[in-house]
Amino acid sequence: MKRVVVKVGTHVLSEQNRLCKERILNLVEFLVALMEKHEVILVSSGAVAAGYSILKLDKKLLHNRQAIAAVGQPQLMATYNKKLEKFGKSGAQLLLTADDFDSRKRCYHAKCTIDTLLENGILPIINENDATATEELVFGDNDQLSSRVAYYFGADLLILLSDIDGYYDKDPHKHDDAKMRKIVHEIEPSELEVEKSANFAFATGGIVTKLKAADFLLERKKSMFIASGFDLSDVKSFMLEGVHQGGTLFTSKD
Ligand code: ADP
Repeated sequence: MKRVVVKVGTHVLSEQNRLCKERILNLVEFLVALMEKHEVILVSSGAVAAGYSILKLDKKLLHNRQAIAAVGQPQLMATYNKKLEKFGKSGAQLLLTADDFDSRKRCYHAKCTIDTLLENGILPIINENDATATEELVFGDNDQLSSRVAYYFGADLLILLSDIDGYYDKDPHKHDDAKMRKIVHEIEPSELEVEKSANFAFATGGIVTKLKAADFLLERKKSMFIASGFDLSDVKSFMLEGVHQGGTLFTSKD
């Protein structure tokens, strides 16, 4: 049984500043199917979107986003658990920061917790601890965190469910002739320097943070798959049927 990490971003989880319950249900339905075949860990953003309907502060200020995330995190977990219950499953919350992976002791304890949860059929749901760390809120939208989670917690594959359905040879929102790259074995240093996407202003990662996550995993002989989080058909056929229809697979050659 393989261990896989699924990371889902703010855009997929929210719509007009609130959680999109229908997409969360679709996601949970997929995760439950995946749990039949693999050990699954979820890395989920979305706390700010979940908290904003309760605490409407100016999101441009970092402290406000941290406070909104603190309000939203339990709401987000409640939403996941409500959907998981429909399938007889439960989720557990782990709030981590990048520093936790720098400490061998903290990382070991977190991995033991994850192992025990997985042995007992619980879905670990990880988010950044936004009150003490701000990487996700400022830059990255958990792309970096999820690559560390995948590597340090012993997963073979990281799946990024994004607003984009794969990695293209150029930005598909700017170029009509952009072509999706189905398999990528290596990332050139120049690709990691691409100008930050327009979404940067709204505190999410853009494609560069995803490529950095892929680069981190490729260097360690692990794989990453990017597919759409809006339409789950590509990730379903790849993970549940073993057919690589759409989406980009980053995997080392040997
Ligand atoms: P998410 O919120 O799902 O984490 P982002 O919106 O932060 O995702 O990043 C994905 C965006 O990156 C795409 O919508 C796309 O506009 C942009 N992008 C820039 N270059 C590329 C590329 N070569 N391939 C795919 N997407 C790209």
